[in-house]
This record gives sequence, C-alpha cells and structure tokens, in this order.
Amino acid sequence: MNTYARFDLLIESGKGAICRDEKGNEYVDFTSGIGVNCLGWCDDEWADAVSAQAHKLNHTSNLYYTEPCALLAQKLCACTGYAKVFFGNSGAEANEGAIKLARKYSYDKYGDGRSKVVTLVNSFHGRTISTLSATGQDGYHKWFFPFTGGFEHVPAGDLYALSNALEGACALVVEFVQGEGGVVALDANFVAEAYEMCRASDVLFVADEVQTGMGRTGKLLASQHFGILPDITTLAKGLGGGLPIGAVLAGEKVANTLGAGMHGSTFGGNPVVCAGANVVVDRLDDKLLADVARKGEYIRSRLDGCPGVKAVSGLGMMVGILPETKKAADIAKQALAKGLLVLTAKDRVRLLPPLTIDDAALEKGMDILTSILKD
Ligand SMILES: *Cc1c(COP(=O)(O)O)cnc(C)c1O
Repeated sequence: MNTYARFDLLIESGKGAICRDEKGNEYVDFTSGIGVNCLGWCDDEWADAVSAQAHKLNHTSNLYYTEPCALLAQKLCACTGYAKVFFGNSGAEANEGAIKLARKYSYDKYGDGRSKVVTLVNSFHGRTISTLSATGQDGYHKWFFPFTGGFEHVPAGDLYALSNALEGACALVVEFVQGEGGVVALDANFVAEAYEMCRASDVLFVADEVQTGMGRTGKLLASQHFGILPDITTLAKGLGGGLPIGAVLAGEKVANTLGAGMHGSTFGGNPVVCAGANVVVDRLDDKLLADVARKGEYIRSRLDGCPGVKAVSGLGMMVGILPETKKAADIAKQALAKGLLVLTAKDRVRLLPPLTIDDAALEKGMDILTSILKD
C-alpha cells in the first residue's frame, strides 16, 4: 500500500555501516534501519547464528520449548534484572502486552475502575489501535475511530498534571528519550519524581524502551541513566539485530500476573529470530556500551559549534539535530545524494548509527553531515 514516503534508493546489500545500491554506489549508514541493525548490516557472527538456526529448527509453536528462546529469556533477565519475559514480534505488540499486563495486575488487586494508562504528550508507542491511543500526539488520533479508551496524556515535566492523572490509573508509560517525538530526553528530576509517585500509589511504571533499549543510549537500558528499574520494560527495535522481535520484561511485582492462555503470539520467540537476538545480547558487553558512549560524544563534539546547528538533543548514539534554518527533510535528501543515510523526527535530523560503526565510517558520515549543515 502507499503507507511510506520512500527515498529514491534501492538498497541491494550492506556490510557493517556501509551499504550499496543496485548501481554500486556506497552509503554510510546513520539509521540502522530505524534503530534496528544495532550490529550493522549482516554482521558475520549474527548472520552465522541465524543461518545455522534456520538449518536446524525454523519454528515451533509456543506449546514447546526451544533452546534459543529459553537462552534469550535467561540472558535478558540476567543482564537487565527482570524476572520474566514475554516475546512478541514488534514494538507495538510489546506495548500492547505491557498494557494488558498492567491492567490485569490492577484488576487482580483492586478490581474494576483502575484501568487508565497514563502516557506523555509527544510520545510514540506504536501503530495498533491501542498503542495509537497511548501515543500522546493528536496527529495520530485521526481516521481510525473508535480508538481504545482509557488513556490520558500529560505533558512531560508537569508533576501536578501527572499526580492528577495517576488517580484511577494502573500504569504510567514513558520513553526516556522520545524518539519519534523529536529525540527529546526526559528531565532526570521528573523521572525520579514520577517514579516515586507511581511507587507510592502502586501504579506500575512502564518504560517503552523499544527505541532507547539495547545499548542505544550507551547503557543497556536507558533506565540505567536514571538509576531505576521500572516494573515493566518493553524492547523491540535493536533486540533482534535486524529480525522482528519484541519483548515485555516483567519485574517481580508482575512476573506471575499472566497465566496460561491469557496472552500469546504465534510467531513470538521464534528460534531463528532468538538465535540472532542471543548474539546481540552477548555482544552488548561493557566494552561495546562504553564505545557507544564514546562515539555519542564524538558525534556531539563534531556538532558543537558547527554552523547551521541550533540545538543537539538525545542520549548516546541517539542524536537529534535542530537545524538553524534548513528543513530536516531537505538535509536528509542532500545527505542521501552525498552518500549518507540519516533519519528525521519532527523538525530534527535524527541519527541512529549502528552501535558497532567504526571510527572511519563515523568520521566520513560526520564530514558529509556537517558540510551540509554548514552550507
Ligand atoms: C518504533 C517504536 C514503537 C513501535 O514499534 P514497531 O516495531 O514499529 O511496532 C513503539 N515505541 C517506540 C518508543 C518506538 O520507537
């Protein structure tokens, strides 16, 4: 269907942070898909694990155990501090699962009338009917009526509005850095206060880390920047390293809220996808995370004082650039013509380079980008 405004580019192959079109032209990648290819294009170890698994066992229903799925669950819980995980196929599906989990937790404990889910203005939580309701942007609340009820949006930073909204709520859902909303990081004090408010009234604190998770911000989870462990964290984009997967991570409080038959997903926890995700989790060690932080700093140092740059936002290798006068979309088009792929979010240029990008490709990309911004 006509659902995407695509660039005039056919990508034929890629390796690391470089891809080629069908004519052999090369491009430096500052997109990772949209924060998906955290190990870049066709990482050898990842591709070997995926293809070996495809030859061994492609799919079973969730009526049986598979080793890659069990291993991934174990590893993810071990490295994040969560108790249990549910696997689906996308960010929206993970958020749907988190919403169901939160509502069930509250229903079990308090009964009817406490089903509201509070989210932030300018958030993005997905494209299903319910996650569109969760998304705090009016532009997404058109055409598809009726949307799922029971959602309320409060402005980030407004603790007074938040405390009112939490009345009758079962959960607060936040992105620590609003990605689609323009790469806007939440204020640390707001996060700390919101977390405490939720604790005090047994409202579940849910982190949508679909974009910020899996090392993107220089920590495994962005919540680690804020020193908190949310009751629920959702993951997707980077987790599979390029194959579709979503995950709902549940803390002790909600680990046993859902029982057999209460939720499910035919493709969730697919062994081929999980084999790739296991490589991603293994590779995201302290060394790589420190390197992500370093490269995020490098990007910022190149933008600091660069003519044409009005403001820089984000965390780690999740970077938003507000241009002085140029339109972000025009910059993305000019970058493509010069051999660099970048994203936009609202009025900002958005950079989500592969976490493993080498310094030479990063420098080349920044040379191209700064030359366009200056121009
Ligand atoms: C991309 C994104 C989603 C939606 O993920 P899909 O896999 O496209 O369903 C949800 N939340 C956030 C924060 C995202 O960035």
